[in-house]
Amino acid sequence: MKHVPIVIGNRPTDGAERIDVISPASGEPVATMALAGIGDLDEAVSTARRAVDALAAMTIRERAAKVAKVADLMERDLESIARDLANEQGKPINEARDEVAVAAEMWRDAAQIGRHMTDRILPSDHPDRAVITVRRPHGVLGVITPWNFPATIPTEYLCAGLVAGNAIVWKPSELTPVTALRILECIQEADFPEGSVNLVPGMGRDIGAGIAAHAGIDAIGFTGSPATGRSITATAGPKPLLLELGGNNATVVLADVDIDEAARRLRSAVFANAGQICSSTERIIVERPVYDELAEALAAHARQLRLGPSLDEMTTIGPLNNEATAAKVEAHINDAAERGATVLTGGRRAADRPTDLYFEPSVLTGLEPHMKAFREETFGPVAMLMPFDELTEAAHLVNDHGLGLVAGVLGTDTTRAMDLGRRLRAGIVNIGEVATAWQHHSPFGGYSGRASGVGRIGGRYSIEELSQTQTFVVPARTMP
Ligand code: NAD
Repeated sequence: MKHVPIVIGNRPTDGAERIDVISPASGEPVATMALAGIGDLDEAVSTARRAVDALAAMTIRERAAKVAKVADLMERDLESIARDLANEQGKPINEARDEVAVAAEMWRDAAQIGRHMTDRILPSDHPDRAVITVRRPHGVLGVITPWNFPATIPTEYLCAGLVAGNAIVWKPSELTPVTALRILECIQEADFPEGSVNLVPGMGRDIGAGIAAHAGIDAIGFTGSPATGRSITATAGPKPLLLELGGNNATVVLADVDIDEAARRLRSAVFANAGQICSSTERIIVERPVYDELAEALAAHARQLRLGPSLDEMTTIGPLNNEATAAKVEAHINDAAERGATVLTGGRRAADRPTDLYFEPSVLTGLEPHMKAFREETFGPVAMLMPFDELTEAAHLVNDHGLGLVAGVLGTDTTRAMDLGRRLRAGIVNIGEVATAWQHHSPFGGYSGRASGVGRIGGRYSIEELSQTQTFVVPARTMP
């Protein structure tokens, strides 16, 4: 069985305690993980501080070459990383393969973007002085990541953070640390200066909170729940924060849509990764003339999914990752049903499975704004549908929410779809596409005033967030 140690400056050590990492598919332990303490965190921070100098001695193109090497190594090890990922996270092996492939692509992209980052020369008030802005790293970057995408989400911070010249102290989710170790092994093989990335496995309340409060950490990248985001914001003080938090995303379906095509797209928008995606479509707001037909078409798709263990090649939807998530999904469905929603299919845990985490793909109609599933993120394999009559009403239903990550509008009349789309307060608005769709080089993040996060991640936006602008005024003539 694998063991995930604390890794500081490339040296693995054990913590005072170990915990088991459990497969959601079998309920069996798949690994053990060391629990780091605050002393380990202090050591990781001082080791990272020394690495900041070593990284600064390299050019951005030299750092980019090593970042590109990580992409090659992840592709070389894709199959075995994907198996470890599926085993501890629970998603179907084919989705795990896709995730590792996308993560490798993100490392390669970051290298390319880094190689072509340019400084700026600004107009100067003085003919003998040039004003130049350059990007500098924040310094020691604390990274705290969740369990739902254990390869791509950490990668977003690690590849951009390293290209920008930060040294990193990383606390992965305690539920998916094996994938973290596998990524770290690729980083080590790519031969970054010692201490460039330090792995501090542990619990959120200890190590996560410790990173947020640590005086030696200069900036934080965090992906996780809005509640944890609030706690980090409260303790981090003036550190720059990149916060990628939760969503309860709506796809609006207009009456002129092709129903079969819409149902097909919504199937993956709702059920990929068993709905455990921050950008999943959870609320489907449908123009009344096609409401019933679309609901039936989506329920038919849901019934065709094969709920099974992650490593079975035939599985198209795996178990949920953990009991807290399963209990919340169950509570949201029960609350909706008690308040008058109709369960078209699913609505409960599957019987006779190795664990209680297998949840039937579910479609409900009759969602209303006072239901928990409307107001809170469900994070499970559940589509909840509600009808609308006027575009103004649809916009209100999408926007009447504390979260605002992504939104989608499906319909063939682009003018009408755009008319609605420009009223939506979400970080990404997909026209002619479901909410869930995202291209990883494009900026992703929460709309201001919502609890879905602060800042933008993706491609060059991550590098910009994980670095700062420094202005130089130098005695030199620029071009007239
Ligand atoms: P979580 O907030 O419980 O945990 C995320 C990480 O924070 C884990 O490493 C955890 O150990 C740590 N943590 C927990 N308590 C902490 C504390 N008090 N201080 C510091 N760190 C702490 O979230 P989760 O359940 O792992 O992930 C699911 C959530 O993440 C969902 O809300 C989902 O929408 C969100 N998410 C957002 C994005 C995005 O890009 N916006 C992507 C993926 C997931």
